[in-house]
Parts: sequence; C-alpha cells; structure tokens
Amino acid sequence: MQSYPMMIAGERVNTSAQDEVINPATGNVFATCARGTSEHIARAVDAADKAYRSWRKDEGFRRQKMRECAAAIQARANDIATLLTQEQGKPLAVSQFEAYGAAMWLTYFADFEPVPEVIREDDEKSIQAIRKPLGVVAAITPWNYPIVLLAWKLAPALRAGNTVVAKPSPFTPLSSLLLAEVLKDVLPAGVLSIIPGDGPLGAELCQLPQVRKISFTGSVTTGKKIMGYAVEDLKRLTLELGGNDPAIVLDDVDPSTLVEKLFWGAFQNSGQICSAIKRVYVHEKVYHPIVQGLVERAKNTRLGDGLDPATELGPINNRMQFDKLSGMVEDAKRDGAKIETGGAPLERPGYFYPPTIITGARAGMRIVDEEQFGTALPVIPYSNLDDALEQANRTHYGLGASVWTANPARGAEIVREIEAGSGWVNCHLDLSPMTPFGGCKWSGIGHENGKWGYDEFTELQLVNVTKAPA
Ligand code: NAD
Repeated sequence: MQSYPMMIAGERVNTSAQDEVINPATGNVFATCARGTSEHIARAVDAADKAYRSWRKDEGFRRQKMRECAAAIQARANDIATLLTQEQGKPLAVSQFEAYGAAMWLTYFADFEPVPEVIREDDEKSIQAIRKPLGVVAAITPWNYPIVLLAWKLAPALRAGNTVVAKPSPFTPLSSLLLAEVLKDVLPAGVLSIIPGDGPLGAELCQLPQVRKISFTGSVTTGKKIMGYAVEDLKRLTLELGGNDPAIVLDDVDPSTLVEKLFWGAFQNSGQICSAIKRVYVHEKVYHPIVQGLVERAKNTRLGDGLDPATELGPINNRMQFDKLSGMVEDAKRDGAKIETGGAPLERPGYFYPPTIITGARAGMRIVDEEQFGTALPVIPYSNLDDALEQANRTHYGLGASVWTANPARGAEIVREIEAGSGWVNCHLDLSPMTPFGGCKWSGIGHENGKWGYDEFTELQLVNVTKAPA
C-alpha cells in the first residue's frame, strides 16, 4: 500500500505512525500518509518564518514562481485528479476541473495588480495606504474540495508575500501532499509546508506565536473554536464556514429548462458544497412540474465510483457525513415529510446515498433548518413571496442564495432581500478567482478571492510623507 510523506520546508518527511485513508467508493483503506506531530508543525512554522524574510521582498520573483507552480500543477493534473477521486469520491472529470482550477487561481493571482491607494499627492504631501504581507499563514482546509480550496488560500497569500503552512483534512490529505510534492522544486524551501493531521494538530498550528493569520474553511463549530485561538495574539482571521443556501423559484419560470440547473446547483459534488442549494422554495403555480422534473432527473442519475467515466455522482466522502445525512432524512420521514425518490443508502460497499427529493418538509425539521451537506433536497411550496423570503432568512447561515425568474431585473431586486454573502440570479455556485466569496451571519467572517481575498492576506499601512526636508 502506498504511503505519502508530509512536506516540511521542501523535504519529504515520513513517520512510523501512519494514518489510513479510505476510498469512499469502496469503504476500504487504499493508502496511508505520515502522521504530523507538534514537532513537525513547529518545524514547518519556523521554516516558514525564516523563508518569509526573503520571500516578502521580491514581487517579480514571487509572480514568476506562482506561474511556475501553475504550470507544474497542469503538468501533473491527471495524477492529482486520480488521487483526489480515490480519496474524495468525486467523478474524475470533476477532480480534473479542480486540479486545473488550482492552476487557474495561481495564474490569476500571479497576474493580479493591487490598485495603489493614493490619498493625497501634491507639492507638500504624499499620502498612500499600502498593503504589506502579514508573515506566516496557517491554511486549514476541509475534505470536499481539498485542492481548489487550498489554492484559494495559497494563491493570494503567496502573491502578497506571505509564507504558508497548510493542514488538510484527515479524510483527504493525499491530494494536498501530492500537490506539495509537485511544488517542492518550484517554491523556495519553507514557503509552503503541508502537514497532515487531525483537529487537535490544527488547533496547535493556529496557536503558534509566529502564525500571523489563520485562513480556515470548514464547519461552523470548528470556525468558532478557531476564532477563540486567534484571540490571544490578535491573529488575523478569515473564516469560510457552512451554509444552508435557499433557492427561490418565481412563478414565471420555464420548469422544463430550470430543473437541470436546480439539480446541479444542489447535487454537484454529491451536495458536499458549502454553497450548494440546500432548500428550494417554489411558487405553487410551478411547484408540481418542478418537483416532478427533479424526481425524474434524480432517478436517472448515474451513481458510481468516480473513476468510472460514466459516473455523474460519486459517494458521500466519509462515514460520519454519510450517517449525518441518513439521520437527517430519517428524521424528516419521522416528522411527516414525504420521500419522492431516494431516501435510503444503496445496498453496496462504499458510502453511496442516491439523490433524494423531499416534499412536505417545513421549518423546524432538521433537513430544512440545518446543513445536510449531501444528496438530499427539500422542495417547499409558497404562495406569497414575502413569506418565502422570510423563510429563506430564518437561519443562522448566510452563505449563498439564488432567485430564478424570467425577469432578471426583478430577480436582482429580490435577491438583495436575502441575507447571504453571494446573491445569484438565474445561477448558483457561479464562482471565479475575481469575485468575492464569503458568508454573513454564521457562514463566516471575511472574504476569499479577487481584491477582497487578496487584502485579507495583507496589513494596511499608512505612508504619510511631508515633502519639506526636515
Ligand atoms: P471541519 O470543521 O470538521 O474540518 C475542517 C478542517 O479543520 C479539517 O482540516 C479539520 O481537521 C480541521 N479541524 C478540526 N477541528 C479543528 C480545531 N479544533 N482546530 C483547528 N483545525 C481543526 O469541516 P469538514 O467536515 O472538513 O468540512 C465540511 C464543512 O466545511 C461544511 O460545514 C461546509 O459547509 C464547510 N465548507 C465551507 C466552505 C466555504 O468556503 N464557506 C467551503 C467548503 C466547506
């Protein structure tokens, strides 16, 4: 069985203690990786701190190295994607998209030009607000998009002049370790280290004094703990947390074309996306055709091992998430909701749960109030738009939301009424390196991507020059 080393300051480090990684399509262990310890974390952070002193200085060199990183990832995209599918479960084509996405993020930020903020420039004064790097960044990532979500942190952090120590999820450490291997000879030693390990190791990383910024993507529960770790040193913090995104379908849509879009907005990556559609509110005029369409589409979905080219949806990534999803659907049944299709795990090895369409669900049920993060979708009718908006907002979450309509201008008015970091009209999950992504309420603090994401890896300094000689 293959064992993957961790990467500390450009060196492969293996350990006698190994952590097993399960292929969710089989439920079996298929590889192992080194187990990070406190000593490894400390060594990586020390190396990052040392590397920072020179890495921060030469912007042109950083940009060149980032372009080389993007090229190196593209050259190994198939290897990264195959490993990602084996440990995460997603279809190979989606894994390839993710690997190329990481290269795209690095290229975007290599080319990114921060706009100089000149406040005053005349004979007497030169006053500017400039952006400077912070130092060592701790990057902690989840298991649903391990590669691209790491790139969302790595690219702006490196561009701004920071160095990074990353800790991937114990469910999906291998693709990140392969990424570290691919970048090993591109980046100077210490600029990027990747240490696999569990939550407590992540907590240690966050609390080391040289770490100046924590960039975290994961659950609300862990995000709140991380906020606590940041307090002592007033570390800078970005939290990208969970979501329970509503989609509101107005009465003027064409159900025949909308169904496919709603389906993929909800079930892409087997629903394991923070900002996937997790509740749909449909005007009663178009409710039945939308439900029927979703049921038909769900029944015709090809579930399978992500390495099989015919697969449309892979398994749920891990036993814990699989049990959570199954439990929420069981609770919904018990509370009187109706399962239109799906509703029980497939009788086969691995963590396969078919796309499940639920009607008769309402506020107060877990499947409506909580984040299912899997292949189940409640579809709820409404007759009054204000009522739908109130239901959409009745949640601690506020990541994404969408409105679907034949009248985009009206949709743009309505989506502003939803408390969500991203308001989409006639699309959902439309993400790019240049647009801000972040949550309101419990869905997070701060933003990733674009100028906004870049700024979060910097400290602002006022440079106020009086031109009269002293
Ligand atoms: P999680 O919070 O359990 O784990 C995320 C990462 O944090 C893992 O690497 C884990 O090992 C680490 N961790 C756990 N406890 C820690 C601690 N005390 N200190 C430091 N690190 C710790 O989340 P998950 O189950 O891996 O991911 C699923 C969640 O992530 C969902 O809620 C999903 O919505 C959210 N998510 C959010 C976004 C976003 O951009 N907003 C994107 C993807 C996923």
